[in-house]
Amino acid sequence: MKLDINRRDFLKFAGMLPLGLFAPKLDKSFGVKSDKKNVIIVVFDALSAYNISLHGYARETTPNIARLAERSTVYHNHYAGSNYTTSGTATLLTGTLPWTHRALKPNGTVSADRVDHNIFSVFKDYYRIAYSHNEWVNTLFDQFKEDIEEWIPREQLTLFSSDRLVQKIFPNDRDIASVSWVRNIKIQQEGYAYSLFLSKLISSIEEKYTSEYRLQFPRGLPTARADGGFLLEHAVDWIVERIASVPGPVFGYFHFLPPHDPYRTHREFTGQFRNDGFQSIVKPLDIFAKDQSDDAQVLRQYYDEFILYVDREFGRMFDLLEKSGQLENTILVLTSDHGEMFERGTAGHVTDSLYEPLIRIPLLIFEPGMKNRTDIYEPTSAVDLVPTLAYLSSHPTPQWNEGTLLPPYSQTDSSIDRNIYAVRSYDAEDAKPLSQASVIIVKGRYKLHYYFGYSEIDGKELVKLFDVKDDPEELNDLSRLEKDIASEMLNELKTKLVEVNKPYIP
Ligand SMILES: [Zn+2]
Repeated sequence: MKLDINRRDFLKFAGMLPLGLFAPKLDKSFGVKSDKKNVIIVVFDALSAYNISLHGYARETTPNIARLAERSTVYHNHYAGSNYTTSGTATLLTGTLPWTHRALKPNGTVSADRVDHNIFSVFKDYYRIAYSHNEWVNTLFDQFKEDIEEWIPREQLTLFSSDRLVQKIFPNDRDIASVSWVRNIKIQQEGYAYSLFLSKLISSIEEKYTSEYRLQFPRGLPTARADGGFLLEHAVDWIVERIASVPGPVFGYFHFLPPHDPYRTHREFTGQFRNDGFQSIVKPLDIFAKDQSDDAQVLRQYYDEFILYVDREFGRMFDLLEKSGQLENTILVLTSDHGEMFERGTAGHVTDSLYEPLIRIPLLIFEPGMKNRTDIYEPTSAVDLVPTLAYLSSHPTPQWNEGTLLPPYSQTDSSIDRNIYAVRSYDAEDAKPLSQASVIIVKGRYKLHYYFGYSEIDGKELVKLFDVKDDPEELNDLSRLEKDIASEMLNELKTKLVEVNKPYIP
């Protein structure tokens, strides 16, 4: 038996499953391609605006996105809801801030009263597809699954799945084959260790199957760790085909792990920024900095090179959608769930800090037929995506969202009195007021950081104020020089905290 599966086989095979095994709910009157536009959101996990050349980063990390941006609306000061996946993604999906949706803990869930108020529910007349490489995002999809026609299992677009392999070997008997396969092969699965021999066999098949791909990734295959690795190429090809083949209009939310760590770029980009003379700005150690031996500058280089892979594949996805004619009927969104940081003694996003690299994310909106670029510099928030996409697709604005219609679509200039917030409370207790949290408020040119309850500050408060327009690197803390501004913004923030904590005070 030949088990050497090539890429075409992979795609053919990957395409085999969704309509069969994962039984999309086709009980609606789908089937007629209407004049409604598709809405496709592409999220690249942990893609910081700080490291994007389109937003001024010194390394040219995004040549393709820059090329495509000429036909889009580009948001230069766009803020995530938080600095990590669960809280940041729940903000994208619910149009509310973390202190409202309450998906605060790692792999947490939104509160029960938010489950029906999700972005998928706005598009009830659409065929809704969701995919994520990141399991924590799948935890959220699971809450919203009543509003998703096709929730693509993570394994569908990872490189090696023994379940998928057995379904290929026994195409006419998939369910039974899969069950017996699981019982025989998955020795980790308690109670089902029937065959050690087959387990070894499957490892060697896996090895053989992935060897071709491993050659393309000198730092190892891209992975979310608990999978056999994946290629963005496969996901992009599969999704473009899938969007074309399902009954439209389509609402799709696709959450890809790159450039999240481990930073494993394609060989085309490996070493591209090595010894390129890039100088990062030296900044003081943060109070949340962890003692670490990792060289932040090497990790930054690896991360930046991983962005090149993201950029290439987003460019390819765009071009495929355009060539197939789908772009003419699609509103395409590129964004992220949070950022990443390589300074102040932190590398990554496992920190309670909310400096700009951790929370400023890209947002580009591509509308059909756009020929020019519009740049938006006023501060905007991830909560704004729900009302804006509702508006662009002619759906009523849901009352439950906390965002505002983004410029240039809004008629009024909301920037003057607008407050932007980001929130992290990683150890929050369920249904309790926030007792330890990191919060920022952005108002025009000023950004105030507010940290409270942490042992690093002896359970007290820490306040910092920056003029992020003139000092985007957040080097000069103005909280003492500009006392009035700092206290006014802090008061506003504290008033807001009282309001969001209210439902949880006994
Ligand atoms: Zn994330």
